[in-house]
Amino acid sequence: MTPGRGGDPAAGARTAAEPGRRQSGAAGWEAVIGLEVHVQLLTRSKMFCGCSARFGDPPNTHVCPVCLGLPGALPVPNERAVRLAARAAYALGCTVHPRSGFARKHYFYPDLPKGYQISQFEEPLATGGALECASPERGPIAVRIKRLHLEEDAGKSFHDRVPGRTAVDFNRAGVPLIEIVSEPDLRSPAEARAYLTVLKRLLGPGYLAVSNCNMEEGSLRVDANLSIRPAGSPELRTRTEVKNLNSFSGVERALAFERDRQIAAAARGEGIEQRTMLFDPASGEVRPTRSKEEAHDYRYFPEPDIPPLVLKDAWLAAERKALPELPAAKRERFQAEFRLSAPESAVVTATAALGDYFEAFARATGDGKDAWNWVANDLLALSADGESIPLPVGRAVEARALVRAGKVSRLAARRLLPEMLRHPAASAEALAAGLGVVQVSDAGAIEGWVRETLAAHPAEVARYRAGEAKVLGFLVGQVVKRSGGTADPKAVSAALAVALR
Ligand SMILES: [Zn+2]
Repeated sequence: MTPGRGGDPAAGARTAAEPGRRQSGAAGWEAVIGLEVHVQLLTRSKMFCGCSARFGDPPNTHVCPVCLGLPGALPVPNERAVRLAARAAYALGCTVHPRSGFARKHYFYPDLPKGYQISQFEEPLATGGALECASPERGPIAVRIKRLHLEEDAGKSFHDRVPGRTAVDFNRAGVPLIEIVSEPDLRSPAEARAYLTVLKRLLGPGYLAVSNCNMEEGSLRVDANLSIRPAGSPELRTRTEVKNLNSFSGVERALAFERDRQIAAAARGEGIEQRTMLFDPASGEVRPTRSKEEAHDYRYFPEPDIPPLVLKDAWLAAERKALPELPAAKRERFQAEFRLSAPESAVVTATAALGDYFEAFARATGDGKDAWNWVANDLLALSADGESIPLPVGRAVEARALVRAGKVSRLAARRLLPEMLRHPAASAEALAAGLGVVQVSDAGAIEGWVRETLAAHPAEVARYRAGEAKVLGFLVGQVVKRSGGTADPKAVSAALAVALR
C-alpha cells in the first residue's frame, strides 16, 4: 500500500480543540470509526445513459427508459465517469484494477425504479490506498482506503411536497457516484471531520475537480460505522451504522453522540446491537431506524447487461501521469523551496490556484517568507471566498515594490491593495498618491516637520537629552503625524537623530 499523495497532514494540525469537545478516550474508551463517502462525479451526463446530470432542474426532466429502468433498455457506462473515478483512485494511492465489474444491488424503495442499483461489488475499480490527514489528537495519521468503486445514484423522495403522499424526482437516478470506503482507522469524531476535510479538498474544484463535493446539493454524502473498545485495544466490537450526516459539523456531532451512547451502554453492562442509526440535526441526537428498514439482503449478482470494465495499461498509465501536483506534494515542495513552516505551507496550498499565486509571487520577488506574508496577511483579505485572490500577481508585486522602495508603508499598502482592485488601469504609485499615503523621504520637508515638532515639545526634548532614549519613539510619531502620515519613519528617525545631537 502506498500512501496517497493527496493528503494533508499539516492542515488543522495546530487547531486548538473546540470548546466542549469530549476526548475520544473518555473513561478509558476509544471510538473505532470507518467512513463510506459517496461523491458525485462531475460529468455532463448520467452513468449509464445520455440524460443530463445537472442539479436543480424541474423534477423528472432528465429521465429516459434506461434511468427509469423500463423493460428492454440497455445501460452503457460513461467513459468520463470511469476516467474521473480512476483519477480519484490514483490520488488516493489506490491500485486501479485493469478489470472490474458491475453488479446489481437489490433493494426496494420508491426512488429506485429498477428495484436494484448498478454498483460494483466483488470486483471494485480500485483498492488499497491511504489518505494522510492531521488528527487533532494524534497528529499526522494515514487513513487506509479499503476500496473505491463506481455506482449510480438513486432518485430522491420528497415527503413534504404533496400532502399525504411521497413525491419522487428521478433526475438524480443514474447520476454517477464513486463510493470511497475507509478502513476503521479513525479514533474520534474530530478525526472523521479532518479526514473529510482533506478528502473534499483533494477531490473538489480546488485540486482534482472530479466533483463539486457540495454537501448541500448532495454531491458528497457520508455514512459512518462506529464501535467502541477499551483505549489501545486491537479488538473490533459490534458497530452501528450512522446515516443522514448532512454536514461536516453534523458528522462530528452525530459520531460524538453515538460514541457516548455506546460508552454509556457499556458502563451499564449492556451490549451494542448492530443496527442503523439516523442523525437528527435539529436535536443533535442519533436514533435507531425502525428495524424492518435495516433488514438488508442486497442479493448482489453480476450485472448481465454490462460486460466487465477492462482498462488498458496505456490508458491507466496516462491517467496516472495526468494527475496534477497534489496538496501534500505541493506543501512539501513549498517547505523545501521557500522555507515555509508546515502550517504556513498549508495556508497557501488550500487550492492549486492559490498555490500557483503564491509561487508566482515568491518567484517574482525572490523572497518566499515575504511572499507568504503578503499572500496570507494582505492579499487573502481581498478574497471573497478566502481562497482565490482577485488581484493579479503582477499588481501585487507592484504594490510590494512601492513598499520596498520606501514610498508606501507596509500598513498603508493594505489600504492601497483594494484601491488597485477597483482601478485596474491606474499605477500603484498614482493610486498611493491619490490616497495620500506616499511617504516623503525628501530631506528638506522632513527637516521642516522635525524643527516644528521639536519646538512644540520642549519638555520631551529635554527628557531625551537627559538620557531618556525611549522619548525618541514618541517624537518620531509626532513628526509622522505632523506630516499627515506621509513622512517615512526611517528618514524621520535619522533626521531627528541629527537635530537632537
Ligand atoms: Zn436516462
